[in-house]
Amino acid sequence: MSVSKNLSCERESVIDVPKDKKCSICSRDAVIFLPYANKYMCQRHFFRHFEKRFFETIREFEMIKKGETIALGLSGGKDSTTLLYMLNKLKKRFPFKLIAITIDLGIECDYNRKIIEIARGTCKSLDVPHSIFSLKNDIGYTLDELVAKTGTRNPCSECGVVRRYLLNKHARELGADKLAIAHTLNDTAQTILMNIIRNEPMRLLRYNEHLVHDGRFVPRIKPFLRSPEREVVLYGRLKGLNLLDKKCCPYSSYAFRSFVRAEVEQLENKYPGSMFKILNSFLSLQRMFRERGDDKSKMIINYCSICGEPSSEGECKFCKLVKQLPR
Ligand code: SF4
Repeated sequence: MSVSKNLSCERESVIDVPKDKKCSICSRDAVIFLPYANKYMCQRHFFRHFEKRFFETIREFEMIKKGETIALGLSGGKDSTTLLYMLNKLKKRFPFKLIAITIDLGIECDYNRKIIEIARGTCKSLDVPHSIFSLKNDIGYTLDELVAKTGTRNPCSECGVVRRYLLNKHARELGADKLAIAHTLNDTAQTILMNIIRNEPMRLLRYNEHLVHDGRFVPRIKPFLRSPEREVVLYGRLKGLNLLDKKCCPYSSYAFRSFVRAEVEQLENKYPGSMFKILNSFLSLQRMFRERGDDKSKMIINYCSICGEPSSEGECKFCKLVKQLPR
């Protein structure tokens, strides 16, 4: 694919290896140090390591079956852009159909314009069918307008509700069997801790939702479940993808997640491998619950009494949110 031009948004530097460091496997120059494995890796061995883990994760959780249509939720940010590249790579050796869906939140800032531009450009260069849906067309408001009308103090929460709802609806309407989300190991560790802090154990148990089968709910898969974010970003950059800095959304600092993210990063820096341990503890607990059948009743999907979309409550969060908006 063609390498896109740098955009003005600030980029993170992820290649932080001293110049004289060599790969722990061969003697080439290292491009990354993996603290949890105490290993330096050159580009060739890093690519192998990253791709192997990606393919094994998909196999381990049976995320994709032959002939399925996989819709990727493509924001145009660095994680989803790299996931688009990886799924497209997998498609060459394993037959499935890949499409991409972008929800244009209509946030008035350069970041929003740039990620939409990147999403469009990357799909075009990889020849992946791409559909862009605007929040304004779907609900009559942009995210900025929605934040102003509801007076919310946590825009990310509203953003999450509308994106989840619209991605599921549009993926289903486009005939997708699964919806791929670019959640990295960092996002996963944060989500697990956030659910524990908020005392939402049943929500936590539903994290591997692709095991839920229902006509209106498109199962979600997270192929980067075991991939640390800095490896996702480095891989994408070394492959020449156009990746923006994650912290450009004007609302990002409001999020509870940004607090948990900082704490998890600190923990990982001090005790490398902690994020893998959080994920593995969660997977062990989830397996124990499934084996005992304790979570079965909670995995049944209900439907919203207003819109009929899948919901864990009588009225879905999306409809509750829309009800607050003037018509
Ligand atoms: Fe949405 Fe918050 Fe992410 Fe911005 S930072 S795109 S508001 S979830």
